[in-house]
Amino acid sequence: MKYPMVDLKGQYLKIKPEIDAAIADVLENTAFIKGPAVKRFEKQLADYLQIEHVISCGNGTDALQLALMALDLQPGDEVITTSFTFIATAEVIALLKLKPVLVDVLPGTYNIDPEAVQKAITPRTKAIIPVHLFGQTADMQRIMEIAKAHQLYVIEDTAQALGADFTHPDTGKTQKAGTIGTIGCTSFFPSKNLGAYGDGGAVFTHDDQLAERLRMLANHGMKVRYYHDYVGINSRLDTLQAAILAVKLPHLDEYAQARQKAAEFYNWAFADCKKIQTPQTAPFTTHVFHQYTVVLDESIDRQALMKHLKDQGIASAVYYPVPLHLQKAYRDKRYGEGDFPVTEQLSRTVLSLPIHTEMTTDMLEEISQAVLNFIHQTL
Ligand SMILES: *Cc1c(COP(=O)(O)O)cnc(C)c1O
Repeated sequence: MKYPMVDLKGQYLKIKPEIDAAIADVLENTAFIKGPAVKRFEKQLADYLQIEHVISCGNGTDALQLALMALDLQPGDEVITTSFTFIATAEVIALLKLKPVLVDVLPGTYNIDPEAVQKAITPRTKAIIPVHLFGQTADMQRIMEIAKAHQLYVIEDTAQALGADFTHPDTGKTQKAGTIGTIGCTSFFPSKNLGAYGDGGAVFTHDDQLAERLRMLANHGMKVRYYHDYVGINSRLDTLQAAILAVKLPHLDEYAQARQKAAEFYNWAFADCKKIQTPQTAPFTTHVFHQYTVVLDESIDRQALMKHLKDQGIASAVYYPVPLHLQKAYRDKRYGEGDFPVTEQLSRTVLSLPIHTEMTTDMLEEISQAVLNFIHQTL
């Protein structure tokens, strides 16, 4: 593929000497589990996010699971989340025998609809998991208001929006995505905005007690070795990955700027095309463009467009083709086709184009032209 969705190699080459030195240092020290780089990176990320505690773990899915485990929920307790997200969000709810309650998203931002959350609350509701999809935050002011009124926990799934800023419309106060709710979760999967060279994840919280519990849960429920206070899991960030992430974190904002520039180009290129709805950024958030996702007019054959792009060496992807409530493993008498019309419409019409830190104007020009050519030729 001439133009893949991400360019991890190009990004690596720009910081190769630092990365290679960091890896060599870990190999030299052989402290592969819980080596000094892990603590160092956790502190560095806590400073960046302006939050008291960062606890690293094995991956973003584990981060979500740890967050739910730390909150002491009972089987059958309800957790509200969006029907339009990566499966991990609902998976961990189900694995812990909690009840995922799905709600629809907003058509412009593809993020969870706070009013739908409000309507889904029952006496068994214990938590809300907003997902900051594709790189911008959900409406955290409204979600926190609802959570406060009903005494609910809020777990932010920040896997796609690390580094995004949320500004409270009422107070003007700005906070990093993932630091507004009870616990924030992120992923360092290689293609995420802050990507490791393997799996990785983290949870963050302002709460000292929760932090201690999260740290223990991620390490077999123990604080003192071989004394287990909780039923935990084994989920740790490798020292190697922490060392790599520590090199990459200082570049995160410049990576976001590169993605934003690419998104601006696409927005400009598609501005006059009525068959393409470009992504809208809500006024209370910055957008770090983990994905650049457009909505195609129903008249456009998405499959044919993707093939047209592929024939020219241009990657494209559908995030996500099947809404959570229509996934085979999550079929439930409670839900059926037509329940979440916005999500279902998006699943049929969204298309994500290549966006990463190494894009050039020539690339963007060629990709957007290829999209527009297909649309003009099918009119
Ligand atoms: C990537 C992702 C996860 C899971 O992260 P992993 O590190 O792959 O386990 C969870 N939620 C969302 C929204 C994601 O994009």
